[in-house]
Amino acid sequence: MPSRSILRIAVPAPLYTCFDYLPPEGVDAATLSPGIRLHLPFGRGERIGVLVEKVSSSSVDAASLKPATAVLESQPLLADQDLQLLLWAASYYQHPPGEVIAAALPVRLRRGEEQVQLAQPGWRLTTCGETAQPTHAPRQLQVIQTLKGQPKGMTQQALYALCGSCRPILRTLEEKGWVEPCELEPQQIPPMPEGSRLTLNPAQQDAITAVSSNMQGFNAFLLNGVTGSGKTEVYLGLIETALAAGRQVLVLVPEIALTPQLMQRFQSRIRAPIALLHSGLSERKREQGWLAASQGAAAVVLGTRSAIFTPLPQLGLIIIDEEHDLSFKQQDGFRYSARDLAIVRAQRQGCPVVLGSATPSLESLHNVATGRYQGLDLPERAGGAKPPRIDLLDIRSAPLNGGLSPALLGRLEKELAAGNQVLLFLNRRGYAPVVTCHHCGWLSECPRCDARMTLHLRSQLLWCHHCGHQRRLYRECPKCSSSDLRPLGQGTERLEEVLAEQFPNHPIARIDRDSTRRKGALEKLLSAIHDGHYHILLGTQMLAKGHHFPDVTLVGILDMDQGLFSADYRAAERMAQMVEQVAGRAGRASKPGRVLIQTRHPDHPLLQTLIHQGYNAFAQVCLDERRQAALPPFSYQALLRAEAGSPEKPIHFLEDAVQQATHFNTQGVELWGPVPAPMERRAGRIRAHLLIQASHRRTLHQLLRQLIPSLGKLKSARHVRWSIDVDPQEML
Ligand code: ADP
Ligand code: ZN
Ligand code: ZN
Repeated sequence: MPSRSILRIAVPAPLYTCFDYLPPEGVDAATLSPGIRLHLPFGRGERIGVLVEKVSSSSVDAASLKPATAVLESQPLLADQDLQLLLWAASYYQHPPGEVIAAALPVRLRRGEEQVQLAQPGWRLTTCGETAQPTHAPRQLQVIQTLKGQPKGMTQQALYALCGSCRPILRTLEEKGWVEPCELEPQQIPPMPEGSRLTLNPAQQDAITAVSSNMQGFNAFLLNGVTGSGKTEVYLGLIETALAAGRQVLVLVPEIALTPQLMQRFQSRIRAPIALLHSGLSERKREQGWLAASQGAAAVVLGTRSAIFTPLPQLGLIIIDEEHDLSFKQQDGFRYSARDLAIVRAQRQGCPVVLGSATPSLESLHNVATGRYQGLDLPERAGGAKPPRIDLLDIRSAPLNGGLSPALLGRLEKELAAGNQVLLFLNRRGYAPVVTCHHCGWLSECPRCDARMTLHLRSQLLWCHHCGHQRRLYRECPKCSSSDLRPLGQGTERLEEVLAEQFPNHPIARIDRDSTRRKGALEKLLSAIHDGHYHILLGTQMLAKGHHFPDVTLVGILDMDQGLFSADYRAAERMAQMVEQVAGRAGRASKPGRVLIQTRHPDHPLLQTLIHQGYNAFAQVCLDERRQAALPPFSYQALLRAEAGSPEKPIHFLEDAVQQATHFNTQGVELWGPVPAPMERRAGRIRAHLLIQASHRRTLHQLLRQLIPSLGKLKSARHVRWSIDVDPQEML
């Protein structure tokens, strides 16, 4: 057999291996490059696989090797470095390589469809248009003037950025025969116009210098800048440096759809084609962006978690904004951390990576302390805005009205009377977290989970936020038929009701998943807030995400106490990040801001540290606690989860897994469990955990590499659904 004529192919299947095939009949293996897609016979069906490498021998005997059915393209979709990163991730996170590689492709390509065309719709002047002089029509003139400098035409996107949304004007001009639509290939797309630029302050300048003087090799930076300190300006400056050097930039943000402002800021500042990659776009749009990036036609990729795998042949800089955000960790299927992979990718690529946050994760702060990352600080707000003043409100003996203490209500009244905007934060949507029967004590429990169903009064539903189960409201108690059913506790819907009663003359904007479900609803709310239409803003963590509300002077945080006493050791860190991020919405412009936190534990040392000494001091205390308890980042964890329809099976499987582990080297590894999951029953399934922990990453991975692929062969595995979560972020 000639050398390297066997194709090693990643096929999406739940197996920890690639599969060997022969080239399709009549195709010479030499013409096939790794990174192309092929049609394959697989089991009794067909699959789309990606060629990973060509090899000269296989463990499968030659007679049983099957030929692939067809080759889908000649130019590879994934370059070798992309494949290697994906294979590394598959092995690190213990996930089947075929599924990992398939997940990295745009959806249509995964299904085996043809690549979409990259040409973008645009406009150009006709010959008549070149000399046209519309009188008394300044906007028509503006469009014509703008197109004059662009003989090949201009993308609609760029034109809109320069002239505003001018579709009706374009239509008029088209009717007059002065402009015509055209298609622009990526390399013809002219750069976007340059937006306004700020004079950077010394801290921003230092941060930019530190990174840009190190652009040629791997370096990891943590940009630790308080809210409003101008981190985004630093990113923009760094992007310009990388672009000027002819490199591509990958920027990851938590949820683009939540921060339309950020997107606009990027688009108006960067003079190069940007590919947006997030779930709010159509499959085709995403694929266009992905292909443009992979062919070098897009200079910047601005995306969410999965954009970390976008092929970028000229990659020269990676930026992770809000690096502490949980959304960078995929919580099901292929459970990877895009932030952690960004470090790995930058290392393999030999380029800098910048993690930015006002509330960095303890992991990243620890990496700065140990010298693995270089810390860059922006300790002050940009443009002269002052940090907000934070105070605790002791509500232990206060009579609460809809969760609001008299002290907070008083402050709200004052600020509103002075014509300011106020923001209230309550991280619980719905009307009330539970309904109870006043007569017999019945509680609205979910029939499928160990959890309560939330009351959504407006939609007349009881709704389980864990499994999605819904039912109509009860008119009477299902247990004793009493009609005395009462909501317990507060949700945003109820808070809105109470505020509307208290402040009837002040319009309220409620921002949570329920009020923003419809497409465009959030954008509409945000722009009305900016126009000053709403005086009271209230909402869940959606409100905390990077928004800039210049007129908010008072932030009230209703209930953060659960974070102080949770069984999850990460709860305190999350609470502090949330407080700091929400607080950061206050006083971002000329007006000073004030933050009031209601609590029943005003003397709690962690809370005291947070408000008197700030997030960094708080993080230091938490890190010391983690060190003493040998918890991450001072140890390394993997969580083996199992679930089944009946109680004994998950525990049984995990016990077998513990037994199985004894066949391998478990020195330096601790196995905790199996134990029932914190919410044992969810969506009708019983769940259990086994925590695997080691003080060295290598020790942990040595065991995982042997243990995980062997678990599928256990008899008890047939009766459960199981998964492994490496570096778990949530112990749910
Ligand atoms: P962050 O990303 O750290 O929250 P931003 O980059 O959004 O901060 O900046 C916060 C506000 O400060 C924005 O309105 C921004 O335009 C402004 N800003 C940033 N840098 C400067 C600067 N050097 N001079 C004046 N204003 C600035
Ligand atoms: Zn009852
Ligand atoms: Zn449920």
